Amino acid sequence: MTGSRDTYGGYRARLVEQLRAQGIRDLAVLRAFAETPRHLFVPEGVRHRAYEDSSLPIGRGQTISQPFTQARYLETLALQGTERVLEVGTGSGYQTALLGALASQVFTIERVRVLAETAQAALKAAGVTNVSLLIGDGTLGWSAYAPYHAILVAAGGPEIPPPLVEQLAPSGRMIIPLGAKGAQTLTLVRRTEGGVSATPIGAARFVPLVGEHGFDA
Ligand code: SAH
Repeated sequence: MTGSRDTYGGYRARLVEQLRAQGIRDLAVLRAFAETPRHLFVPEGVRHRAYEDSSLPIGRGQTISQPFTQARYLETLALQGTERVLEVGTGSGYQTALLGALASQVFTIERVRVLAETAQAALKAAGVTNVSLLIGDGTLGWSAYAPYHAILVAAGGPEIPPPLVEQLAPSGRMIIPLGAKGAQTLTLVRRTEGGVSATPIGAARFVPLVGEHGFDA
């Protein structure tokens, strides 16, 4: 990509090694982290910390998630590269870029306009071209491009938004943090014959999912 990419190449390689050491095994996921310039997705003030394995503030009270958490999330989706994916909560756009590297097409929704615009610019700077971004309430999904083979919700909600279940392909997988504000359970959701199955996969702390099928603003 750009020349500045090389400046951060060593840090990025070290982050990938940390993810591997913590048990991330999916080679496609590790490759996505090795190729995605996280420093382009964090505000200038915290850029020197871009390759730490920690969450960072991105403005408007929102955060870019911890890379290890995102890696676990992405491993759970087990993407093959051919999928159409819906992401709810674009935030910085970093996870969107990772999804772009792991799937065929990514549709992402962010409710905060300024974050969406900043993410759009960062995705462009990073050379990501298979992402479409919508500003709005992601708990309603994006029906125009449904069904999705995978849905990733990057904010924690009180319930599984019904429109997202409707927009999930029959064999699709959705991951969503469910529970109260400040403490959720990361949950894997699958469509079954008669409805949905929900499997808890671990504790999580995400910012609140705000919207019609989420928390009040
Ligand atoms: N994974 C992101 C971090 C996401 S933080 C990254 O890598 O940067 C969660 C984001 O979800 C925030 O930006 C928040 O504004 C957004 N959000 C919360 N509720 C939403 C909703 N109903 N629809 C779309 N975005 C929402």
